[in-house]
Amino acid sequence: MVVPTRLPLVRRRCHACASERFRASGKFRVNANHKLIDAWLLALCTVCGETAKLTVLERMTVRSVRPELLDRLHHNDPGLTAELLQDPAVRRRNRIALDWDNAWRLDTGRSDHLDREVVDVSVRLTARIPVRPARLIAEGCGLPRAEVERLITEGRIVSAVALSGRLSSNFAFTLKRSALPRTTGLPGMVRRTGPSPDPRRPRWTVPRSRGPSPGSSRRSWAGASRRGRR
Ligand SMILES: [Zn+2]
Repeated sequence: MVVPTRLPLVRRRCHACASERFRASGKFRVNANHKLIDAWLLALCTVCGETAKLTVLERMTVRSVRPELLDRLHHNDPGLTAELLQDPAVRRRNRIALDWDNAWRLDTGRSDHLDREVVDVSVRLTARIPVRPARLIAEGCGLPRAEVERLITEGRIVSAVALSGRLSSNFAFTLKRSALPRTTGLPGMVRRTGPSPDPRRPRWTVPRSRGPSPGSSRRSWAGASRRGRR
């Protein structure tokens, strides 16, 4: 499970200095003029402290705004900032992107059977955080990043989604740790018997010594389901 540890930074160029990062202040400004209302989320430049106003409501008729939202704006509701920053419409309107670096952590939950031969893992993102699946798999399985990349190339880590690049939604993958594939026809599978191995794939197996240590392998991910194939 991927969980935020703090609010993401807002990527936006500061007019007062060269900085491109703002920190949401958690405060809102509401301006009601006759029957029209404007509301902004205030953000502060991380370098010079300059205030930027991110538009939340723009010349809306007061009656069209949900009273509950007005109430939260007036009371600087702490959860509202996070909700608004994750709202694509708010980001588009203000032409901002989010910087999630160091703003989340991977919670792998209770210890379980990641050392099984075949492990199904589902990864849940509690916010739309753009993450690199290969990096998460490496961290969650206690494997070096290069090893994960190799297992993906060899088809021993498989997923319905592309594991290269970034994702910002839930995904699942299967890790096939076993040296001997028990089924055939799956992409990337290499049979131990038969013709000589493809020279580009000199290794048949992951030697025990290169796998995760016993301690680190007995970790799991929250919400993971797993099956052994024996
Ligand atoms: Zn600045």
